[in-house]
Amino acid sequence: MAVRLDGRQLATALEERLKTTIAAGLEQAGRPPGLAVLRVGDDPASGVYVAHKEKACARVGITSQGAHLASGTPAAEVAAVIARLNADPSVDGILLQLPLPKGLEEGPLLGLIDPEKDADGLHTLNLGRLAKGENGPRSCTPAGVMALLREAGIPLAGARAVVVGRSLLVGQPMALMLQAADATVSIAHSRTRDLAELTRQADVLVVAAGRPLLIGAEHVKPGAVVVDVGIHRLPPDPAAGPGARGRLCGDVRYGEVEPFAAAITPVPGGVGPMTVTMLLVNTVVAWGRRHGLDNPLADLVP
Ligand code: NAP
Repeated sequence: MAVRLDGRQLATALEERLKTTIAAGLEQAGRPPGLAVLRVGDDPASGVYVAHKEKACARVGITSQGAHLASGTPAAEVAAVIARLNADPSVDGILLQLPLPKGLEEGPLLGLIDPEKDADGLHTLNLGRLAKGENGPRSCTPAGVMALLREAGIPLAGARAVVVGRSLLVGQPMALMLQAADATVSIAHSRTRDLAELTRQADVLVVAAGRPLLIGAEHVKPGAVVVDVGIHRLPPDPAAGPGARGRLCGDVRYGEVEPFAAAITPVPGGVGPMTVTMLLVNTVVAWGRRHGLDNPLADLVP
C-alpha cells in the first residue's frame, strides 16, 4: 500500500506558517498582505476556485479583493484593471483567473501583470527566472507538488522523473523544478510514442495530461512515487437519478496504482489544496519583499 501524499493536511500546516509569518511582519509592514483576484466571465468552475482562494486568504490574514468583469469585456478594459492593480500599493499579488472567455488571449494579459505581483508565477519573466534558478514567484501547482514531495522525504537527486504534460501552467515548470532538484527529467506529451514504456522508467511520475484515468497499472513501476495533477468530474451514474453529480477523479486510475506504488496523491485532496496554498505563499513572500522583511518561506520557493 502506498503512502498517501495528503495535500489537505500539508496545506493546513502551511497555513499556520503563513499566519505566523504575517503576524511577525505586520507591525513593520503596517498592513496585511493583499491579493487581488481578477475574474472575467462566468465559467462556473472558476467561480468555485475563486471562492476557495478568497476563503483561504481570509483564514491566514491576507486581504483579498475581487474584481469580476462581464464575459464580453474588451481586452483594453481588462488591461486597465490590471494597470490599476499594478499601481495599488495595498496589492502584493494579482491573480488573473484562467480560463478567460473566448476572444481574450491569456498570454498578453498575463504579461501585463507586474512580475513582482505575479501571484500565479506565470509571467514570462518569472518562468525565465525559474529556468535560470533566480528568485521569483513560482507557478503554484508545480511548487505545491515540490512541497508535497519534500514533506514526504522523497529523494529527488539522481532520481528518474517523468512529467506527463508540457503546458506552461504545469508540465514545463514542473520539469524545471524537478531538474533543479537534481532529478533526471523526461517530459511526455500527446505525441510521445510509447507512453507506458517511458513512464515505467520513472521513480517519480507526475501526471498533468488533463485526460481522466489515462494512467493505470501498465504505466507505473512498482515502488514509484505517483503525483496526479489532473482533476475531472466524471458523468454521473444514470442509476443515481436526476440531480446526482459524478465523482471526481484524476488522470491516474488510483485503485489500480495505489497497491504497488511507494506513494501517491489522492484526487481530491492531493495537489489541489497545495495549489491554493502556493498562491498564498507567493503573495506573502511578495509582501515581505516590499517591506524589507526576512523571508522564512524560502524553502517553499523551489
Ligand atoms: P493542458 O494545457 O491541456 O496540457 C495537457 C498536456 O498533456 C499537454 O502538453 C498535452 O500534450 C499532454 N497530453 C494530453 N493528452 C496526452 C496523452 N494521451 N498522453 C500524453 N500527454 C498528453 O492542461 P494543464 O493546464 O497542464 O492541466 C493538466 C491537468 O491538470 C488538467 O486536468 C487540469 O484541470 C489539472 N490542473 C489541476 C490543478 C490543481 O490544482 N489540481 C492545477 C492546474 C491544472 P500536447 O502538448 O502535445 O497537446
